Amino acid sequence: MLGATGSIGGSTLDVIARHPDRFRASVLTAHSNAAALADLCVRFRPDLAVIADPALEAELARRLAAAGVRCEVASGHEAITAAVTGTLCDTVVAAIVGAAGLDSTLAAARTGKRLLLANKESIVMAGALLLEALAAGGGELIPVDSEHNAIFQCLPGGRPELARSGVRRLILTASGGPFRGRTRAELAGVTPEQACKHPNWVMGRKISVDSATLMNKGLEVIEAHHLFGAPPDRIDVLVHPQSLVHSLVEYVDGSVLAQLGNPDMRTAIAYALAWPERIEAGVLPLDLAATPPLAFQQPDLDTFRCLALAFQALRAGGDATAILNAANEVAVEAFLAGSLPFLGIANLVESVLTELPPQAVVDVQTLNERDRMARDAARRILRNAC
Ligand code: NAD
Ligand code: MG
Repeated sequence: MLGATGSIGGSTLDVIARHPDRFRASVLTAHSNAAALADLCVRFRPDLAVIADPALEAELARRLAAAGVRCEVASGHEAITAAVTGTLCDTVVAAIVGAAGLDSTLAAARTGKRLLLANKESIVMAGALLLEALAAGGGELIPVDSEHNAIFQCLPGGRPELARSGVRRLILTASGGPFRGRTRAELAGVTPEQACKHPNWVMGRKISVDSATLMNKGLEVIEAHHLFGAPPDRIDVLVHPQSLVHSLVEYVDGSVLAQLGNPDMRTAIAYALAWPERIEAGVLPLDLAATPPLAFQQPDLDTFRCLALAFQALRAGGDATAILNAANEVAVEAFLAGSLPFLGIANLVESVLTELPPQAVVDVQTLNERDRMARDAARRILRNAC
């Protein structure tokens, strides 16, 4: 469980705890919250706990010893990747946030582990390389992102071969986030706290801001393109404020299949963990008679420019989506730190995309270098603007 202390981590461990006969969390990793990681180790008794920040390894070991937990302890970025490729696990839940999850996601794919992908930034950054690694490793990828998990459920046998399965369009639903319906003028002064108050989902802060800008949907369009081999003009986005229809697949015969459920990530996680079987996830049944009417509308691309920028980067090809992702990560960090206004996020991403025209994706090293260049460019533009 990569990113065990996060929102997806917590939901995954909740599902795992419901099925001790099927699953065991043998490896838990976290970034820097040693106390939270130690608490999870007390509860889940993994074989190995890894903390990304090496300065915190001693604290983690001390906490585990004090709690009487006997498990191996390691630290550092490489230790997370090593844990993924080792023999301690056969399934990897990739739920680190951001490009920091790329190496471990790729490693899981390369070693043929069953990869449960929540870390959408890694596929946005390195889609083609991730698919190559999956093919080479011979393992399988089950999407955890609720929209992609929904599409996976609506495709025949879960198989993503659009061309042969009569699919006309993939339709990703978006809640619209906390600022749905607002004008640009109304968004000028919104705060990180307002942006992180999502109407339907409780999530980490980075993805919450992405949901508020609609960049999250943009990243998901790119994710869907890679996961299901869909060209950009066959992926649509519809705003659906109730977040009960998690996405849809339209077929050439006029059928539209949708997956519905209460907005609770444990459904997608349980499906991914047990696929092709289904298991209890602790999610309340959907009471359709008691739900508000389901509404759908076109997204407002002029106000929420990040979604348009993501489509633009996808169409531009090469490593443009990696540049988009890196610039967005810097922009979101700056917004959360109070040094960039909400509308500045799209402006910053656009400036970096203009400054760094796309190049072909060659390998991970080059991609990481381009990611660094995009971050440097974003930070310089930010500094100059202040
Ligand atoms: P979060 O912020 O709640 O948790 C992130 C986890 O990653 C934490 O355990 C943290 O310790 C770890 N982490 C952060 N930086 C790290 C680093 N540099 N090295 C190692 N570990 C690091 O985030 P989240 O909401 O759980 O989201 C995780 C991923 O899942 C994101 O990519 C997000 O887009 C995706 N996702 C989340 C949801 C959701 O409902 N939360 C839904 C769909 C997809
Ligand atoms: Mg999603």
